[in-house]
Amino acid sequence: MTFANRNEQWKHDKDGLEIIKEIPALADKAFKDIDPGDVERLKWAGIYAQRPRDGHFLVRVKLPSGQLTAEQAEVLAALAAEYGKGELQITIRQAVQIHNITLRDACDILPRLSAVGLSSVEACGDVPRTILGNPLAGVDAEELLDTRPIVEEVFQFFLGNRAFSNLPRKFKISISANPHDAGFARINDIAFVPAKREGEVGFVAYVGGGLSAEPYLAERLPFFIRPAEVKAVAIAVATIFRDAGYREKRNHCRLKYLVADLGIESVAEKVEAQTGALLRGGEEVTAPWNYGRFYGVHAQKQAGLSYVGIHVTNGHIAAEALKVFAALAKRYGQGRLRTTNSQNLILLDIPESAVEALLQEEIFRTYPIKPGFFTGYASSCTGNAYCNFAPIETKHRLHALTAALDAAFPEVGQPLRVNLTGCFHACAQPQVADIGLTGGRARVGKETVPAYTVMVGGHLGKDAAFATPLEGRVADVNLEALLKALVQQYLDLREADEPFYAT
Ligand code: SF4
Repeated sequence: MTFANRNEQWKHDKDGLEIIKEIPALADKAFKDIDPGDVERLKWAGIYAQRPRDGHFLVRVKLPSGQLTAEQAEVLAALAAEYGKGELQITIRQAVQIHNITLRDACDILPRLSAVGLSSVEACGDVPRTILGNPLAGVDAEELLDTRPIVEEVFQFFLGNRAFSNLPRKFKISISANPHDAGFARINDIAFVPAKREGEVGFVAYVGGGLSAEPYLAERLPFFIRPAEVKAVAIAVATIFRDAGYREKRNHCRLKYLVADLGIESVAEKVEAQTGALLRGGEEVTAPWNYGRFYGVHAQKQAGLSYVGIHVTNGHIAAEALKVFAALAKRYGQGRLRTTNSQNLILLDIPESAVEALLQEEIFRTYPIKPGFFTGYASSCTGNAYCNFAPIETKHRLHALTAALDAAFPEVGQPLRVNLTGCFHACAQPQVADIGLTGGRARVGKETVPAYTVMVGGHLGKDAAFATPLEGRVADVNLEALLKALVQQYLDLREADEPFYAT
């Protein structure tokens, strides 16, 4: 069978999951001698060719709903120290990446991950990815129910499942019972958000969201979904995607295009054809969006215990720092941490009596619990440090910009989110930022310089809306001045605590 789309050909010729057992043999080859189809299939093992494409990779480790034990954090930190130049990245899907590894390194890394219950399998590739969720699941005083068992059930069903290892593209699931849209519901392929129906607690689901060059907000299915039905609905939507999803042009293979073409009623019929009749209705339980940030010290649902939300600048954390946080989680808490989709970290289970001592620890000088309203709420993608698509550097540039904004506008008084993404793939989600920047390059005179498209006013949560693009592009040399002008205008015009996106 011959396919016009080479990715479809690769997937047809050999299932991506087959690559896992072939890694030792591939590690013996020079990178240039590895079949391009196998380089693609390595994504099914969570191993992704990074920039420059010379035999160095990243390994992405899935942490469903951001759950991480101190023991697991210690292993991740040790692996990053040994193989990843002493650093890790927390991703916007609560995963953790170690960069700069070789396939020979992977032969040691993967079993060591597995030994502590971690997996990189299907962290990348055309498969169900890690499950995004409430990072406070189980300790959240506001959650309608503890979603950890549901997340685990759905995660284990799809993990390495050959029935779903050849989807048209990636498939992103979000499950959260936190009313502040902790799971960024409407930019996922399928998202379950908290709801009630006649006093019963459950979910409503949204399908067909996604960003990239053509962003779509997921649309609501008409069902009230009981906790025991979440897995069946997730399987039904994945099945529709697998069997009816587009497979011709890579940029057009995401579920969002299929949902838009079928219409939400037709998708609902197809779901019920698999699950049987579902209840209708249900009222979403919502509260203002918290941007996926959990900074500071807050009471857990367990009396006398607190969680501590910590800022990690653009998700970039030193292996040594992760090791320290793992040790603190053991010494002060019960050995539990969480990652967030805002690329930050949370320590759980700190007794109220121990909070003060914990916060005296030296590490909080570098990783604060109350960061600036610009630096603490910004997001960037990987950029040209590691990404083959990136025309610009992102992380350091964004930090420099937001640090300048923090210094210039101490009176801002509330978060103002600047997201910088390296290209149209939109990994840093510029469309849902207060100010979203998409990098590229533009000709200025005889030179080609970094330049950005700018969009303003995006947000998730209730009444989610994408940011509005501004005309033209701004050269890097003018970017800081432009951002300052936008912020100044907001400060001049805002009423009381009016957020930026409402202006
Ligand atoms: Fe790479 Fe583009 Fe994604 Fe940034 S947005 S990580 S440059 S693909």
